[in-house]
Amino acid sequence: MHLKTLTVKGFKSFARPTTFQFEPGVTCVVGPNGSGKSNVVDALAWVMGEQGAKTLRGGKMEDVIFAGTATTGPLGRAHVELVIDNSDGALPIEYAEVQISRTLFRNGGSEYAINGESCRLLDVQELLSDSGLGREMHVIVGQGQLDNVLQATPADRRGYIEEAAGILKHRRRKEKTLRKLDAMQANVTRLQDLTGEIR
Ligand code: ATP
Repeated sequence: MHLKTLTVKGFKSFARPTTFQFEPGVTCVVGPNGSGKSNVVDALAWVMGEQGAKTLRGGKMEDVIFAGTATTGPLGRAHVELVIDNSDGALPIEYAEVQISRTLFRNGGSEYAINGESCRLLDVQELLSDSGLGREMHVIVGQGQLDNVLQATPADRRGYIEEAAGILKHRRRKEKTLRKLDAMQANVTRLQDLTGEIR
């Protein structure tokens, strides 16, 4: 499995559609200060489901949408597409090439898609969670992040290890199921109240 291409459009400093092609092995992105190197890494994290605006070096999620320059007006949406070579079947999906995309509209709307099919954030997270790519971004080491890992609380450190071991997916499912059970319990209590009233 390797990342084949990353296409950004309206994401941070990339107003026009721009495609990066990657080969297996090490890729270096070089450029002057402020030219957008870190924005490429942010785009990678974002399309894989990153939810933290701070992690993406912004104040709110809308900050990822191209805000305009002196010569170009702001755009209404950010769109990022990632194509992963899955010919070794590392991702649990029966496609040799997997395309993941994420779009955010300035009015707040948001869309995810896997191979062109609209899906939920959870679907993207679950697809990636056994692959070494994922929400906690243990494969993306940003500036200063090494310090964060070294200074992490035991609970945070456990989170990194759980993500790497693929446990986080099951923890998320458990949390979701517990929330459903809570809602169900509230319904049962309400039903019991109503039954009591009818008697
Ligand atoms: P350095 O080498 O200094 O770390 P870099 O090459 O990694 O820099 P980035 O931090 O990726 O650069 O890009 C910073 C640039 O992106 C700034 O010029 C900033 O104005 C621009 N930028 C960030 N968000 C947006 C946005 N929403 N709209 C337009 N431009 C943006």
